[in-house]
Amino acid sequence: MNEIIPSASPSVASAAGRSFNELPLSPSMQETLRQLEYLTMTPIQAASLPLALAGHDLIAQAKTGSGKTAAFALPLLTRLNPRRFAVQAMVLCPTRELADQVTQEIRRLARSEGHIKILTLCGGTTMRPQRASLEHGAHIVVGTPGRIMDHLERGSLNLEALNTLVLDEADRMLDMGFYDDIAFVAKQCPAGRQTLLFSATFPEGIARLARQFLRKPQEVKLLEQHEGSKIRQRFYEVKHEERLQAVATLLKHYRPVSTLAFCNTRQQCRDLLEVLHKQGFHALTLHGEMEQRDRDQVLIQFANRSCSVLVATDVAARGLDIAQLEAVINVDVTPDPEVHIHRIGRTGRAEEDGWALSLCSPADKRRIATIAHMMDIEPEWHTLGSLQSGNDAPLVPPMVTLPILGGRKEKFRPGDVLGALTGEAGFTREQVGKITVTDQTTYVAVARNIAHEAVRRLSAGKVKGKTVKVRALTD
Ligand code: ADP
Ligand code: MG
Repeated sequence: MNEIIPSASPSVASAAGRSFNELPLSPSMQETLRQLEYLTMTPIQAASLPLALAGHDLIAQAKTGSGKTAAFALPLLTRLNPRRFAVQAMVLCPTRELADQVTQEIRRLARSEGHIKILTLCGGTTMRPQRASLEHGAHIVVGTPGRIMDHLERGSLNLEALNTLVLDEADRMLDMGFYDDIAFVAKQCPAGRQTLLFSATFPEGIARLARQFLRKPQEVKLLEQHEGSKIRQRFYEVKHEERLQAVATLLKHYRPVSTLAFCNTRQQCRDLLEVLHKQGFHALTLHGEMEQRDRDQVLIQFANRSCSVLVATDVAARGLDIAQLEAVINVDVTPDPEVHIHRIGRTGRAEEDGWALSLCSPADKRRIATIAHMMDIEPEWHTLGSLQSGNDAPLVPPMVTLPILGGRKEKFRPGDVLGALTGEAGFTREQVGKITVTDQTTYVAVARNIAHEAVRRLSAGKVKGKTVKVRALTD
């Protein structure tokens, strides 16, 4: 690692808020960025794009939601030749969800760069359709290391023309035991390629990967700096046995619409879920053994504001890109201060304020001292007793999710569903929330007070000329 760019250096400090205009990007790409309303670069983009566009290998540290995708998508698209029908760029991601998110974002950025085919290759589905798509050729491949390795072993993926390899959320891939698969894949890539590695944290495995597969990488490290005004952080001292009930107390007092509650173990997640359900909260959890479809459904309900609380471990929650999170609750304090900073960085995004509430037993005090030292803050201690217990009304999410049978396969678009609800069915635009189209199902969020009637009218009417099966998801 040749060059360290410390977060305090003026080059980085002044980097945020800089315009994409100063980058060597094509006029069509500049136009796309304007259309997407990407007016200024995020700090990670400002720090890494000039280096990556100049051809350097990169080790970049950035948290979720910091705009990493564009930080690697712009360099790989700049180098891509649309007329050459061969895989020229490959992005490795830890999960199918992240691979889907990355694919979508690259598609958006590539829309005026000519006809560019992007394939997503992940496990959990059969190989054959993927092989068929590969035979038709692709410019960019996004996928999970295991599945990409399978394709390489069977000879269905050829990387001879590859000029950019991206490792996205590399630490997470290592957590999931992908080291050997990544190594296998990297060895199949041409030696002259550029490699861009993104990671939120730097466990030892990252250095090993970098030593083995990166050439003279430049290091871009942005310490996460949360402005105190955006994230309001409070610490509550609780006895260990009060912890789960304390989460309910916090929720009733602060009444956030969406809360991510972090536990250190899966057992703690299960226990908390039980306590919250018993008290009537709309809470869901995510864990590794869930089927992809169930996982999607949980994430969709949380993101569209029809579930108040998502209970998760750090591993299960990594990489989620959820806007509008009013609160993060640390049900357990994490032993790693970096993880703590990462957790609470999920609230108070953009222009919104957010609460970061931590429950601490006396034994956690040392951890808090370390965190406070790292964040350079004076921890604000509060007691549960100080919370008003007056508001006992149940905390109810504003929306309800209606799954509609039929999705991408039926060529459903969000507009079809919105049209059905606001047209024939007679609802207003304001009563309809987020609409998410997946392969076989379309999920629409509607205001809670019309959910029942919306199911009735949608079932009686038509979406895209077809009668559809609709129900309401209740948890
Ligand atoms: P990460 O991979 O770091 O979690 P993403 O690349 O998914 O983050 O970006 C997070 C969100 O920010 C996406 O919705 C993306 O479209 C948006 N975004 C990225 N860069 C910019 C920018 N420069 N200006 C405005 N929005 C941006
Ligand atoms: Mg990402």
